[in-house]
Amino acid sequence: MIPANFSYYNYIKVIGLVGETYMVVNAMEKIMKDLLDEYLDRLQMRCTCEKCKTDLLALVLNKVPPYYVTDQNKIPYIKAKFADKQELTSLIVKLAECAKIISERPLCETMKQKQKEVEYD
Ligand SMILES: [Zn+2]
Repeated sequence: MIPANFSYYNYIKVIGLVGETYMVVNAMEKIMKDLLDEYLDRLQMRCTCEKCKTDLLALVLNKVPPYYVTDQNKIPYIKAKFADKQELTSLIVKLAECAKIISERPLCETMKQKQKEVEYD
């Protein structure tokens, strides 16, 4: 028997027929993006265009274990867990290491253009 408080909407929601979408999100993506924005001027990147920042984000996210959630609203709590100094420091160290790698070989158009100017000087 279906209980009285179990609405039709809820029922089909459970079986996923009302277009209710469930998804997994890697909380580290948001956490790393926030750290990048916060520490950008201290990372001393040669170029801080969107392409270089995105390359940096991809590189560093490949180096930290993912932390998947199904509810985006939980991300701030996960972030708070990382507020533990040691955890946060290790994330910032990884970010700095990757910033150095990206700075050594920037792949964006801006830096390619600058490189050309140097060659033709
Ligand atoms: Zn760039």
